[in-house]
Amino acid sequence: MNAMATQFASQSTSVLPTADELDRALRDAAPAEIIAAALKTVGRDQLAVVSSFGTESAALLKVMADVDPAIPVIFLDTGWLFEETLAYRDTLIAKLGLRDVRSIKPLEEALKRDDPDQELWFSNPDACCRIRKVEPLARALKPFSAWINGRKRFQGGVRADIPVVEVDGGRLKFNPFANVSREEIKDIYARAKLPQHPLQASGFMSVGCMPCTSRTTEGEDERAGRWRGRAKTECGIHTMKTS
Ligand code: SF4
Repeated sequence: MNAMATQFASQSTSVLPTADELDRALRDAAPAEIIAAALKTVGRDQLAVVSSFGTESAALLKVMADVDPAIPVIFLDTGWLFEETLAYRDTLIAKLGLRDVRSIKPLEEALKRDDPDQELWFSNPDACCRIRKVEPLARALKPFSAWINGRKRFQGGVRADIPVVEVDGGRLKFNPFANVSREEIKDIYARAKLPQHPLQASGFMSVGCMPCTSRTTEGEDERAGRWRGRAKTECGIHTMKTS
């Protein structure tokens, strides 16, 4: 544990540190230290991990499970996910002993009202992400004052500059893998013998919803297969308000 993280771990929880203070203290900390600090800051009742159970998700979930496998995990089941992703979720729950995975679906009334023909992903993908991801996440996060996610700076784009700790919609948001490299993620998979997402072997380097995910070719950015041919690069859970 680095010196700042050690100092943070030993301080009283009676006065909560700000996001900036946490970010400074945890800037060079390892993912497990950052998750432990999140737990210490707000307590398990107030902390959730958000995971897509995508191609690199097992690394974050493994580190989290080593810290505390009972931290609630929110999984957004949009209704457009691959069967393989749902199966992978169940495989990882069993393998890692995750005790509280919450599969959150969009509201039926929102689907009937805004996407009766199930074509919104094509005509207005931002609106589709809003009713299938952003609004369900906002509902799921209501009981929590902090959340953890798996974004990495090496993914580039708007992720290239993410801090380790920030504020999003009034909640603390921890990015414990912000500093982690691709090689370190591979190492976590190898050491823990974590299974790969079933679609990875057939060329899907980043997996989201079926209509908005395609294979990538050699040399392409790993997220190039998401919303291919469109300007959209993010679903909105990190860029739209979740409060
Ligand atoms: Fe809809 Fe595509 Fe967003 Fe999934 S990723 S919610 S299908 S627009």
